[in-house]
Amino acid sequence: MTAPLAEFRLAQPGTVKEAIAACLKHPGSRFVAGGTDLLVNMRRGISSPDLLVDLSGIDELTEIKSDGRGVTIGAGVTIATLAHNTAIASQYRALTQAAAAIAGPGHRVMATVGGNLCLDTRCIYYNQSEWWRSANAYCLKNRGDVCHVAPQGQRCHAAFSGDLAPALLVLGAEIDIAGAQGERRIPLSELYVEDGKAHLTLAAGELIAAVHLPAAPHASAYEKVRVRGAIDFPLAGVAVALAASGTTIGSLRIALTGTNSRPFLLAGTEAFAGRPVDEKLQQEIDRLVQKQVQPMRTTIASANYRRVAAAALARRLTARLFAERTA
Ligand SMILES: Cc1cc2nc3c(=O)[nH]c(=O)nc-3n(C[C@H](O)[C@H](O)[C@H](O)COP(=O)(O)OP(=O)(O)OC[C@H]3O[C@@H](n4cnc5c(N)ncnc54)[C@H](O)[C@@H]3O)c2cc1C
Ligand code: SF4
Repeated sequence: MTAPLAEFRLAQPGTVKEAIAACLKHPGSRFVAGGTDLLVNMRRGISSPDLLVDLSGIDELTEIKSDGRGVTIGAGVTIATLAHNTAIASQYRALTQAAAAIAGPGHRVMATVGGNLCLDTRCIYYNQSEWWRSANAYCLKNRGDVCHVAPQGQRCHAAFSGDLAPALLVLGAEIDIAGAQGERRIPLSELYVEDGKAHLTLAAGELIAAVHLPAAPHASAYEKVRVRGAIDFPLAGVAVALAASGTTIGSLRIALTGTNSRPFLLAGTEAFAGRPVDEKLQQEIDRLVQKQVQPMRTTIASANYRRVAAAALARRLTARLFAERTA
Protein backbone atom coordinates (compact mmCIF):
# COMPACT_ATOMS: atom_id res chain seq x y z
CA MET A 1 0.00 0.00 0.00
CA THR A 2 1.67 3.25 -1.12
CA ALA A 3 0.46 6.64 0.11
CA PRO A 4 0.03 9.47 -2.42
CA LEU A 5 3.06 11.66 -2.95
CA ALA A 6 2.99 14.52 -0.43
CA GLU A 7 2.79 18.02 -1.87
CA PHE A 8 6.02 19.90 -2.48
CA ARG A 9 7.20 23.01 -4.28
CA LEU A 10 9.73 22.90 -7.11
CA ALA A 11 12.53 25.41 -7.70
CA GLN A 12 14.07 25.30 -11.18
CA PRO A 13 17.37 27.19 -11.08
CA GLY A 14 19.39 27.78 -14.25
CA THR A 15 22.83 27.81 -12.61
CA VAL A 16 24.70 25.92 -9.90
CA LYS A 17 24.99 29.15 -7.87
CA GLU A 18 21.21 29.65 -7.92
CA ALA A 19 20.63 26.01 -6.96
CA ILE A 20 22.90 26.28 -3.93
CA ALA A 21 21.29 29.58 -2.88
CA ALA A 22 17.77 28.09 -3.18
CA CYS A 23 18.75 25.06 -1.11
CA LEU A 24 20.43 27.11 1.63
CA LYS A 25 17.48 29.53 1.81
CA HIS A 26 15.09 26.65 2.57
CA PRO A 27 16.49 24.32 5.25
CA GLY A 28 15.09 20.83 4.72
CA SER A 29 14.90 21.25 0.92
CA ARG A 30 16.56 18.61 -1.28
CA PHE A 31 18.27 18.61 -4.66
CA VAL A 32 16.58 16.41 -7.23
CA ALA A 33 18.15 15.36 -10.54
CA GLY A 34 16.47 12.43 -12.34
CA GLY A 35 14.30 11.73 -9.28
CA THR A 36 14.52 7.95 -9.79
CA ASP A 37 15.73 7.40 -6.22
CA LEU A 38 14.44 10.41 -4.29
CA LEU A 39 10.88 10.35 -5.63
CA VAL A 40 10.53 6.65 -4.83
CA ASN A 41 11.56 7.37 -1.24
CA MET A 42 9.17 10.32 -1.09
CA ARG A 43 6.33 8.10 -2.31
CA ARG A 44 7.16 5.80 0.60
CA GLY A 45 7.03 8.65 3.10
CA ILE A 46 10.72 8.17 3.93
CA SER A 47 11.53 11.74 2.97
CA SER A 48 9.09 14.65 2.68
CA PRO A 49 10.91 17.87 1.75
CA ASP A 50 8.53 20.75 1.05
CA LEU A 51 10.89 22.15 -1.60
CA LEU A 52 12.82 20.26 -4.27
CA VAL A 53 15.61 22.09 -6.08
CA ASP A 54 15.66 20.63 -9.58
CA LEU A 55 19.15 20.33 -11.10
CA SER A 56 17.97 19.04 -14.48
CA GLY A 57 17.79 22.48 -16.15
CA ILE A 58 21.40 23.42 -15.38
CA ASP A 59 23.32 23.14 -18.66
CA GLU A 60 26.78 23.48 -17.04
CA LEU A 61 26.20 20.11 -15.30
CA THR A 62 25.50 18.13 -18.47
CA GLU A 63 28.80 18.24 -20.35
CA ILE A 64 31.35 15.50 -20.99
CA LYS A 65 34.74 17.02 -21.87
CA SER A 66 38.00 15.23 -22.63
CA ASP A 67 41.55 16.37 -23.18
CA GLY A 68 44.95 14.62 -23.09
CA ARG A 69 44.84 14.48 -19.28
CA GLY A 70 41.53 12.69 -18.91
CA VAL A 71 37.80 13.30 -18.94
CA THR A 72 35.37 15.48 -16.97
CA ILE A 73 31.80 14.23 -16.62
CA GLY A 74 29.13 16.68 -15.41
CA ALA A 75 27.03 15.43 -12.50
CA GLY A 76 23.87 16.03 -14.55
CA VAL A 77 24.95 13.70 -17.39
CA THR A 78 22.36 10.95 -17.63
CA ILE A 79 23.28 7.32 -17.11
CA ALA A 80 22.00 6.54 -20.64
CA THR A 81 24.30 9.19 -22.16
CA LEU A 82 27.23 7.83 -20.15
CA ALA A 83 26.50 4.23 -21.14
CA HIS A 84 26.41 5.15 -24.84
CA ASN A 85 29.52 7.36 -24.93
CA THR A 86 32.02 5.54 -27.16
CA ALA A 87 35.07 7.54 -26.02
CA ILE A 88 34.36 6.53 -22.43
CA ALA A 89 33.78 2.91 -23.44
CA SER A 90 37.15 2.73 -25.14
CA GLN A 91 39.13 4.08 -22.16
CA TYR A 92 37.02 3.34 -19.10
CA ARG A 93 35.23 0.07 -19.80
CA ALA A 94 34.30 -0.52 -16.15
CA LEU A 95 32.36 2.75 -16.13
CA THR A 96 30.39 1.86 -19.26
CA GLN A 97 29.61 -1.60 -17.89
CA ALA A 98 28.47 -0.14 -14.56
CA ALA A 99 26.26 2.47 -16.27
CA ALA A 100 24.66 -0.16 -18.53
CA ALA A 101 23.87 -2.30 -15.45
CA ILE A 102 21.91 0.43 -13.63
CA ALA A 103 18.14 -0.07 -13.36
CA GLY A 104 16.23 -0.28 -16.69
CA PRO A 105 16.37 1.76 -19.94
CA GLY A 106 13.48 4.00 -18.80
CA HIS A 107 15.28 4.86 -15.56
CA ARG A 108 18.62 5.44 -17.27
CA VAL A 109 17.33 8.24 -19.52
CA MET A 110 16.31 10.20 -16.40
CA ALA A 111 18.89 9.03 -13.82
CA THR A 112 22.11 11.03 -13.48
CA VAL A 113 25.71 10.52 -12.44
CA GLY A 114 25.35 12.85 -9.42
CA GLY A 115 22.16 11.13 -8.26
CA ASN A 116 23.82 7.74 -8.56
CA LEU A 117 26.82 8.81 -6.46
CA CYS A 118 24.47 10.31 -3.84
CA LEU A 119 22.00 7.42 -3.86
CA ASP A 120 20.46 6.72 -0.46
CA THR A 121 21.58 3.52 1.29
CA ARG A 122 19.25 0.52 1.12
CA CYS A 123 17.82 -2.08 3.50
CA ILE A 124 14.87 -4.48 3.48
CA TYR A 125 13.56 -2.76 6.63
CA TYR A 126 13.83 0.70 5.07
CA ASN A 127 12.78 0.48 1.39
CA GLN A 128 9.19 -0.26 2.34
CA SER A 129 5.90 1.61 2.38
CA GLU A 130 4.98 3.93 5.24
CA TRP A 131 2.35 1.38 6.28
CA TRP A 132 4.90 -1.47 6.41
CA ARG A 133 7.49 0.54 8.33
CA SER A 134 4.99 1.89 10.87
CA ALA A 135 3.68 -1.64 11.47
CA ASN A 136 7.28 -2.67 12.28
CA ALA A 137 8.01 0.28 14.62
CA TYR A 138 10.17 2.01 11.96
CA CYS A 139 13.97 1.69 12.52
CA LEU A 140 17.04 3.65 13.55
CA LYS A 141 17.60 5.12 10.06
CA ASN A 142 14.17 6.72 9.91
CA ARG A 143 11.92 7.66 12.84
CA GLY A 144 12.69 4.57 14.99
CA ASP A 145 15.09 3.73 17.80
CA VAL A 146 16.28 0.21 17.02
CA CYS A 147 18.14 -1.30 14.07
CA HIS A 148 16.28 -4.51 13.17
CA VAL A 149 19.38 -5.88 11.46
CA ALA A 150 21.71 -5.42 14.47
CA PRO A 151 19.42 -4.61 17.44
CA GLN A 152 22.29 -4.39 19.97
CA GLY A 153 24.21 -1.86 17.87
CA GLN A 154 24.00 1.91 17.67
CA ARG A 155 24.48 2.37 13.94
CA CYS A 156 22.66 1.72 10.69
CA HIS A 157 24.17 -0.91 8.39
CA ALA A 158 22.08 -0.15 5.29
CA ALA A 159 24.10 -0.88 2.16
CA PHE A 160 25.29 1.59 -0.44
CA SER A 161 24.21 0.01 -3.73
CA GLY A 162 25.17 2.47 -6.47
CA ASP A 163 26.90 0.87 -9.44
CA LEU A 164 29.02 3.77 -10.70
CA ALA A 165 31.06 4.45 -7.56
CA PRO A 166 33.25 1.30 -7.57
CA ALA A 167 34.06 1.77 -11.27
CA LEU A 168 34.99 5.41 -10.66
CA LEU A 169 37.03 4.50 -7.58
CA VAL A 170 39.29 2.03 -9.42
CA LEU A 171 39.72 4.56 -12.23
CA GLY A 172 41.06 7.16 -9.77
CA ALA A 173 38.11 9.60 -9.85
CA GLU A 174 38.03 12.96 -8.13
CA ILE A 175 34.88 15.05 -7.76
CA ASP A 176 34.16 18.79 -7.74
CA ILE A 177 31.86 19.80 -4.91
CA ALA A 178 30.16 23.18 -5.23
CA GLY A 179 28.86 25.05 -2.19
CA ALA A 180 28.31 28.54 -0.83
CA GLN A 181 32.09 28.97 -0.37
CA GLY A 182 32.92 27.99 -3.98
CA GLU A 183 34.26 24.70 -5.37
CA ARG A 184 36.57 22.11 -3.84
CA ARG A 185 38.01 18.95 -5.41
CA ILE A 186 38.34 15.73 -3.43
CA PRO A 187 39.06 12.07 -4.20
CA LEU A 188 35.73 10.29 -4.68
CA SER A 189 36.57 7.98 -1.75
CA GLU A 190 36.28 10.98 0.59
CA LEU A 191 32.62 11.48 -0.33
CA TYR A 192 31.66 8.42 1.72
CA VAL A 193 31.74 7.23 5.33
CA GLU A 194 30.75 3.85 6.78
CA ASP A 195 27.41 4.91 8.28
CA GLY A 196 24.16 3.80 6.64
CA LYS A 197 22.24 6.72 8.14
CA ALA A 198 24.60 9.48 6.99
CA HIS A 199 26.97 8.02 4.42
CA LEU A 200 27.81 11.23 2.51
CA THR A 201 30.25 13.93 3.64
CA LEU A 202 28.41 16.73 1.76
CA ALA A 203 27.53 19.76 3.88
CA ALA A 204 24.12 21.48 3.65
CA GLY A 205 23.70 23.18 0.28
CA GLU A 206 26.66 21.36 -1.30
CA LEU A 207 26.26 19.47 -4.56
CA ILE A 208 28.48 17.41 -6.81
CA ALA A 209 29.24 19.42 -9.95
CA ALA A 210 31.52 17.04 -11.88
CA VAL A 211 33.62 13.90 -11.84
CA HIS A 212 37.21 13.87 -13.17
CA LEU A 213 39.00 10.78 -14.44
CA PRO A 214 42.70 10.71 -15.29
CA ALA A 215 43.73 9.18 -18.64
CA ALA A 216 43.58 5.43 -18.09
CA PRO A 217 46.54 3.14 -18.73
CA HIS A 218 44.53 0.39 -16.99
CA ALA A 219 42.19 -2.24 -18.37
CA SER A 220 39.03 -2.24 -16.27
CA ALA A 221 35.80 -4.15 -15.79
CA TYR A 222 32.68 -4.12 -13.59
CA GLU A 223 30.25 -6.89 -12.71
CA LYS A 224 27.52 -7.35 -10.15
CA VAL A 225 25.39 -10.15 -8.77
CA ARG A 226 21.71 -9.40 -8.28
CA VAL A 227 18.52 -11.25 -7.47
CA ARG A 228 16.96 -10.58 -10.88
CA GLY A 229 19.03 -10.56 -14.05
CA ALA A 230 17.58 -7.17 -15.04
CA ILE A 231 16.57 -3.94 -13.26
CA ASP A 232 18.08 -4.73 -9.90
CA PHE A 233 20.50 -3.24 -7.42
CA PRO A 234 23.72 -5.14 -6.75
CA LEU A 235 23.81 -7.63 -3.88
CA ALA A 236 27.53 -7.21 -4.47
CA GLY A 237 29.26 -5.28 -7.25
CA VAL A 238 32.97 -5.32 -8.03
CA ALA A 239 35.15 -3.15 -10.26
CA VAL A 240 38.75 -4.00 -11.11
CA ALA A 241 41.42 -1.91 -12.86
CA LEU A 242 44.65 -3.60 -13.82
CA ALA A 243 47.84 -2.55 -15.58
CA ALA A 244 50.23 -5.32 -16.59
CA SER A 245 53.99 -5.02 -16.58
CA GLY A 246 55.30 -7.72 -18.92
CA THR A 247 53.90 -10.99 -17.58
CA THR A 248 53.14 -9.67 -14.09
CA ILE A 249 50.81 -7.15 -12.46
CA GLY A 250 51.94 -3.53 -12.79
CA SER A 251 49.15 -2.20 -10.59
CA LEU A 252 45.82 -3.52 -9.40
CA ARG A 253 42.82 -1.76 -7.86
CA ILE A 254 39.61 -3.42 -6.72
CA ALA A 255 36.51 -1.60 -5.41
CA LEU A 256 33.22 -2.88 -4.05
CA THR A 257 29.62 -1.79 -3.71
CA GLY A 258 26.49 -3.38 -2.20
CA THR A 259 28.28 -4.94 0.77
CA ASN A 260 28.98 -1.98 3.08
CA SER A 261 27.41 1.37 3.87
CA ARG A 262 29.94 2.97 1.53
CA PRO A 263 31.61 1.89 -1.69
CA PHE A 264 35.30 1.35 -1.01
CA LEU A 265 38.69 0.52 -2.51
CA LEU A 266 40.06 -2.78 -1.27
CA ALA A 267 43.16 -2.15 0.86
CA GLY A 268 46.34 -4.15 0.25
CA THR A 269 46.27 -4.71 -3.53
CA GLU A 270 49.48 -2.68 -4.09
CA ALA A 271 51.38 -5.67 -2.61
CA PHE A 272 50.41 -7.71 -5.71
CA ALA A 273 52.56 -5.61 -8.10
CA GLY A 274 55.26 -7.71 -9.75
CA ARG A 275 53.36 -11.00 -9.36
CA PRO A 276 51.51 -13.07 -11.97
CA VAL A 277 47.80 -13.75 -11.46
CA ASP A 278 48.02 -17.40 -10.49
CA GLU A 279 45.87 -19.57 -8.20
CA LYS A 280 47.77 -18.44 -5.09
CA LEU A 281 47.23 -14.76 -5.84
CA GLN A 282 43.54 -15.33 -6.55
CA GLN A 283 43.18 -16.99 -3.17
CA GLU A 284 44.84 -14.00 -1.54
CA ILE A 285 42.41 -11.65 -3.29
CA ASP A 286 39.54 -13.83 -2.11
CA ARG A 287 40.75 -13.60 1.50
CA LEU A 288 41.29 -9.83 1.32
CA VAL A 289 37.76 -9.26 0.02
CA GLN A 290 36.13 -11.59 2.54
CA LYS A 291 37.97 -9.82 5.36
CA GLN A 292 37.09 -6.27 4.30
CA VAL A 293 33.45 -6.55 3.20
CA GLN A 294 30.83 -6.20 5.93
CA PRO A 295 27.54 -7.45 4.49
CA MET A 296 24.69 -7.53 6.99
CA ARG A 297 21.16 -8.94 6.76
CA THR A 298 19.96 -5.90 4.79
CA THR A 299 18.93 -7.79 1.62
CA ILE A 300 16.93 -10.92 0.92
CA ALA A 301 20.19 -12.76 0.13
CA SER A 302 22.24 -13.86 3.13
CA ALA A 303 25.24 -11.85 4.28
CA ASN A 304 27.50 -14.84 3.71
CA TYR A 305 26.32 -15.28 0.12
CA ARG A 306 27.17 -11.64 -0.61
CA ARG A 307 30.60 -12.01 1.02
CA VAL A 308 31.46 -15.10 -1.05
CA ALA A 309 29.96 -13.64 -4.25
CA ALA A 310 31.98 -10.41 -3.86
CA ALA A 311 35.19 -12.39 -3.42
CA ALA A 312 34.42 -14.62 -6.42
CA LEU A 313 33.72 -11.60 -8.65
CA ALA A 314 36.97 -9.92 -7.59
CA ARG A 315 39.00 -13.06 -8.24
CA ARG A 316 37.43 -13.78 -11.63
CA LEU A 317 37.53 -10.22 -12.96
CA THR A 318 41.21 -9.90 -12.00
CA ALA A 319 42.08 -13.17 -13.74
CA ARG A 320 40.11 -12.18 -16.84
CA LEU A 321 41.69 -8.72 -17.14
CA PHE A 322 45.17 -10.15 -16.57
CA ALA A 323 44.62 -12.76 -19.29
CA GLU A 324 43.44 -10.03 -21.68
CA ARG A 325 46.36 -7.76 -20.91
CA THR A 326 49.09 -10.40 -21.15
CA ALA A 327 47.66 -12.38 -24.12
C1 LIG B 1 13.39 0.02 -10.09
C2 LIG B 1 14.69 0.72 -9.80
C3 LIG B 1 15.87 0.03 -10.03
C4 LIG B 1 17.10 0.65 -9.77
N1 LIG B 1 18.25 -0.06 -10.00
C5 LIG B 1 19.44 0.53 -9.76
C6 LIG B 1 20.65 -0.20 -10.01
O1 LIG B 1 20.65 -1.34 -10.48
N2 LIG B 1 21.83 0.42 -9.71
C7 LIG B 1 21.89 1.68 -9.21
O2 LIG B 1 23.00 2.18 -8.98
N3 LIG B 1 20.77 2.39 -8.98
C8 LIG B 1 19.55 1.86 -9.26
N4 LIG B 1 18.40 2.57 -9.04
C9 LIG B 1 18.46 3.88 -8.39
C10 LIG B 1 18.52 5.09 -9.33
O3 LIG B 1 17.73 4.91 -10.47
C11 LIG B 1 19.95 5.42 -9.78
O4 LIG B 1 20.87 5.27 -8.73
C12 LIG B 1 20.06 6.82 -10.36
O5 LIG B 1 21.35 6.99 -10.95
C13 LIG B 1 19.82 7.94 -9.36
O6 LIG B 1 20.01 9.16 -10.05
P1 LIG B 1 18.88 10.30 -10.07
O7 LIG B 1 19.44 11.42 -10.88
O8 LIG B 1 17.57 9.78 -10.50
O9 LIG B 1 18.86 10.67 -8.53
P2 LIG B 1 17.74 11.47 -7.70
O10 LIG B 1 16.65 10.55 -7.31
O11 LIG B 1 17.38 12.73 -8.38
O12 LIG B 1 18.61 11.84 -6.43
C14 LIG B 1 19.15 10.86 -5.57
C15 LIG B 1 19.86 11.55 -4.41
O13 LIG B 1 20.98 12.27 -4.89
C16 LIG B 1 20.90 13.66 -4.58
N5 LIG B 1 21.50 14.34 -5.71
C17 LIG B 1 21.16 14.25 -7.02
N6 LIG B 1 22.04 14.91 -7.78
C18 LIG B 1 22.97 15.44 -6.94
C19 LIG B 1 24.16 16.22 -7.11
N7 LIG B 1 24.58 16.62 -8.31
N8 LIG B 1 24.87 16.57 -6.01
C20 LIG B 1 24.47 16.19 -4.77
N9 LIG B 1 23.36 15.46 -4.54
C21 LIG B 1 22.63 15.07 -5.62
C22 LIG B 1 19.42 13.93 -4.34
O14 LIG B 1 19.24 15.01 -3.44
C23 LIG B 1 19.00 12.60 -3.71
O15 LIG B 1 19.32 12.60 -2.33
C24 LIG B 1 17.14 1.99 -9.30
C25 LIG B 1 15.95 2.68 -9.09
C26 LIG B 1 14.74 2.06 -9.34
C27 LIG B 1 13.47 2.82 -9.12
S1 SF4 C 1 20.35 -1.43 8.86
FE1 SF4 C 1 19.04 -1.20 10.66
S2 SF4 C 1 18.81 1.02 10.97
FE2 SF4 C 1 19.64 0.69 8.92
S3 SF4 C 1 17.83 0.70 7.59
FE3 SF4 C 1 18.24 -1.44 8.14
S4 SF4 C 1 17.03 -1.84 9.98
FE4 SF4 C 1 17.11 0.36 9.68
